[in-house]
Amino acid sequence: MTKLNDLSLQQASDALRRGEISSRELTQACLNQIEKLEPEMNAFITLTPELALEQADAADQLRQARRKDPQSELSPLLGLPMAVKDVLAVANVRCTCGSRILENFIPPYNATSVERLLKAGIVTVGKANADEFAMGSSTENSAYGATHNPWDMTRSPGGSSGGSAAAVAGRMIPAALGTDTGGSVRQPASFCGVTGLKPTYGRVSRYGLVAYGSSLDSVGALAQSAEDLVLIFEEMAGVDPRDATSMDLPVPKIELTDDPDLKGLRVGVPEEYFIEGIQPEVESAVRKAIAELESLGAEIRPVTLPHTEYALPVYYLIAPAEASANLARYDGVRFGVRGSADSLLEMFHQTRGAGFGAEVKRRIMIGTYALSAGYYDAYYGQAQKVRTLIKGDFEKAFEQVDVVAAPVAPTTAFRLGEHSGSPLEMYLQDVFTLPANLAGVPGMAFPVGFDTQRLPIGMQLMGPHFREEILFRVTHAYQQVTNWHRQSPVLN
Ligand code: GLN
Repeated sequence: MTKLNDLSLQQASDALRRGEISSRELTQACLNQIEKLEPEMNAFITLTPELALEQADAADQLRQARRKDPQSELSPLLGLPMAVKDVLAVANVRCTCGSRILENFIPPYNATSVERLLKAGIVTVGKANADEFAMGSSTENSAYGATHNPWDMTRSPGGSSGGSAAAVAGRMIPAALGTDTGGSVRQPASFCGVTGLKPTYGRVSRYGLVAYGSSLDSVGALAQSAEDLVLIFEEMAGVDPRDATSMDLPVPKIELTDDPDLKGLRVGVPEEYFIEGIQPEVESAVRKAIAELESLGAEIRPVTLPHTEYALPVYYLIAPAEASANLARYDGVRFGVRGSADSLLEMFHQTRGAGFGAEVKRRIMIGTYALSAGYYDAYYGQAQKVRTLIKGDFEKAFEQVDVVAAPVAPTTAFRLGEHSGSPLEMYLQDVFTLPANLAGVPGMAFPVGFDTQRLPIGMQLMGPHFREEILFRVTHAYQQVTNWHRQSPVLN
């Protein structure tokens, strides 16, 4: 028998609507699973079980009260438990960003994405673990300890939204919010065998997302399937007066059908994403998935994204540059922890010296250097120019194809500690995910197989700006005819 915490978001939504289960029962089942696995997994920084049960009861009461009225007015998300990555503000709940410097920071407001989901009636069980300020690819940069991958507890769940991905994969929760600045939704989704959406830059408000790289940051979500992610995307997307970069475009109503026919769809396969060093099992699983799309009627075409090799150096200049400016606000005056000292300058030193971890400090230094007078043009300015070329690659490709299919990461989940001694090795994990952020295009990662160690393999689809519906349609078609996304780790 399926346990309630195993239900997908859509299945749970249907069961709630039909009155077969209550939100309290569902929430309690999730809390029980969390209680059981959390000591080993460390997927959360802060848990809010009382708040969750209160929200669940409120959802049940609302549903009860509406029983006689048409239920159609209720959001399909009413009463569904979710986790929120700890870089997004949930009012009156501690928001650490995985950092010591915000250990005691309690935001008085909700991020717009969270606010919209709360209005739809979601239940928030807690704040998911993440790399400090979302800087990392393994969750090992969290000041609150690394998260463990439920498929193999000695391995990383990926990062930076590793807590969100592990919680969904470990069936602690049917869905979670994550953020993606350079791959942080897609890579952990891939490592944990779940489905993750990184929307177009500007599609979901960044208000209340603690800024890392403001021109790259996006709020996304992780769940068991594309069908689940539609529910979340439709509620949280759309213009927000509080984020000037959010686009005033209608959010399409995404109607998924049971018919997996992909006739007329053109899928581009970029040669630059099948390079030496990629784990052979990853390449073969991704190629098999592309063949599956072909068997559903899609036309497969080779495309070229010639500036892909520059994405890594460009990203690791632009993101730290923006981070160095964004993180200047943590000076002990307004937010979080304050070091004690006799002078103001010494207080800044104390606060930032003790509050930030090694990777964050490294990025602040790289970023400050890249932006400094005399180096700005050579580093930051140059990187921005190459970024334009990378964006142009995608625009050209999307004149020929509707989506681009590629691996999410060169390997499956690596061991905790395997790359933590070498920043460069860690940065190399991001080669395939950074280009979408630099170009601002949407991406969807989903499971397409396992390696010989039974670790999940992910594929990503990238689409034109503001065309998330294509990614949903293609992923859903694939998930209609395969069941990789229904697999879950054996956990005792
Ligand atoms: N791993 C990348 C970094 O460390 C991406 C992180 C992210 O998307 N937040 O910057």
